[in-house]
Amino acid sequence: RPSPPPTVVLVYQRVSLPWVFDSARRAGIRIVLVPRPDERPGPEQLPPAVVDVLPLDWENDPADALAALRRRHREAPFDGITTLYDPAVPFVAEAAEALGLPGVGRDTALAAQDKRIMRERLAAAGLNVPRFVRLDGDAPGTDVPGLDFPVVVKPAQGFSSLGVMKAGTRAELKGVVDEVRRVSAGRPGRAGGGLIVEEFLDGPEYAVESLAHRGRVQVLSIGYKGEPEGPHFEESVYRAPAGLPGGVEEAVRREVIAAHAALGVTDGPTHTELRLRGGTRPHLLEMGARIGGSGVSQYIAHRVTGIDLAADALRIAAGLPPESFEAGRDPRAVGAAANYIVPCGGSGRITAVHGLDELAGDPRVDHVVRMLRPGDVVRPYPDFTGYPAFILSHHASTAEAEEFHRFLDRAVRIDYEPEDTTR
Ligand code: ADP
Ligand code: CA
Ligand code: CA
Ligand code: CA
Repeated sequence: RPSPPPTVVLVYQRVSLPWVFDSARRAGIRIVLVPRPDERPGPEQLPPAVVDVLPLDWENDPADALAALRRRHREAPFDGITTLYDPAVPFVAEAAEALGLPGVGRDTALAAQDKRIMRERLAAAGLNVPRFVRLDGDAPGTDVPGLDFPVVVKPAQGFSSLGVMKAGTRAELKGVVDEVRRVSAGRPGRAGGGLIVEEFLDGPEYAVESLAHRGRVQVLSIGYKGEPEGPHFEESVYRAPAGLPGGVEEAVRREVIAAHAALGVTDGPTHTELRLRGGTRPHLLEMGARIGGSGVSQYIAHRVTGIDLAADALRIAAGLPPESFEAGRDPRAVGAAANYIVPCGGSGRITAVHGLDELAGDPRVDHVVRMLRPGDVVRPYPDFTGYPAFILSHHASTAEAEEFHRFLDRAVRIDYEPEDTTR
């Protein structure tokens, strides 16, 4: 008798970002979707892999959400629960523990989300970490002993670079700390409200997509993320493979694999961000115990390696072995892929977004995900409204991806009319 298809509860995945749903369908995994409160899709908008929708208010009432999951599990058992939404990682880990399902565990979920715990664990394991100071509660943040400037100030449990700011000098610090507190107040993931201040790491930035199973780590892809200088750190480009020299790539792999061990991530996907000091020495910015970029990392890793990262992540969440490990080989790049995040390039009310319609027929472009449209109001930085659009493309080489991005720099433009954003 064939066993029924595995079913996984997927928390807060946007149906407008298709990659994980596509992977589930290919892998024959059924999805029970916990919809985002700002996206309650009707039946016709649900991806085919979704067999059920289960609204849960885990942000405001985690105990009630857990009880609802328990009921659902008793009535119609599922095999796993997972998320790509960073603030939900600890809740999902707790729920999995409570229901006896596979997961990274609450302790590891917190370590991979709270930058204070992460920094302490990475340092204890002898990995490269910048010097840092925790600012708990409403500590004034005028005193950061032992740190050299510039420093970066950020919420300890932030995500998406929200409220991450650089302070160039000691004199600027208090103003920056106040600003970070103001911007991150009321944001999800702010729990505890603590901040971290750490030394600025110079050098180019990279993202690393990996998959762990029973303590074994497979690094799928390393991609270039630009060299952001601050004072704000909005996302810009992602191009993989990075094409690092052999020795540097090896150092990155070693650092990332060691970080899995330090944080205790033995199973599931991870998304690591790091900077290469002096162009050679990897220093982790952070590691998330989830697929990165709401699924953008699935697109990149799949296009670069041919490995369906999300399908394997869902299999692991359901307690099944991943298929890419069965091959027993280290994945290598078979192509190049990129994400271009359209910069806001201004603020006010959007009147037009130029250059996106023309991409529809471009064979290199796989997806244009539009998030801001004419009529939407973009507030000036450091307030964050969102990214206007993602352009996901594949190429024969990273050099061609770079060339394409130079073209997009010229071709895509947003027009604004003034709007009172002081409200
Ligand atoms: P989040 O969890 O909000 O994404 P990150 O720690 O990843 O926070 O910071 C967001 C971005 O800010 C990083 O991608 C990087 O560009 C920049 N950044 C953060 N910390 C540092 C640092 N110590 N040195 C240099 N850049 C940093
Ligand atoms: Ca993060
Ligand atoms: Ca980040
Ligand atoms: Ca980033």
